[in-house]
Amino acid sequence: MYKLRGHHLFCLLGYRGMGYSKQYVENMTRIHQTLRENPKTWIQLVNGPDQLCDKYPNSGEYHCQDNTIYERDEAILEKLGLGIGQILKWEEIESCIRKHVVSSDIQSVCENCSWRSYGVCEEGIQDILQGKGLRKVK
Ligand code: SF4
Repeated sequence: MYKLRGHHLFCLLGYRGMGYSKQYVENMTRIHQTLRENPKTWIQLVNGPDQLCDKYPNSGEYHCQDNTIYERDEAILEKLGLGIGQILKWEEIESCIRKHVVSSDIQSVCENCSWRSYGVCEEGIQDILQGKGLRKVK
């Protein structure tokens, strides 16, 4: 089971192997690959720093405890109809995305994120809506 915070459910959709450091990328790639290959993997939704934040490098400005990030977690969980503490399978999260999310939601819920302009997160939501699941990271 992985512990994930709200906004990382969306970040995983747009993940293409980019990240803050080598360690961060290795960890995220491992989690992403597990979810892609086994969508029945259990996820616990947590409040604040999670198993991706664990590998955030000491060198960068640590933003994982910023209020704006907590607000993004909350906005995304609310959109999905999910709540902190819930335990569910990754495939159930994909199903909530299909029911409640459109790709342009990224523009509003992730307004201040520096990765947003790459367009990969919107693309990731589109993939889920089309029933394709997570993309393979090359
Ligand atoms: S725009 Fe930023 S916060 Fe939003 S899903 Fe993408 S990487 Fe995550």
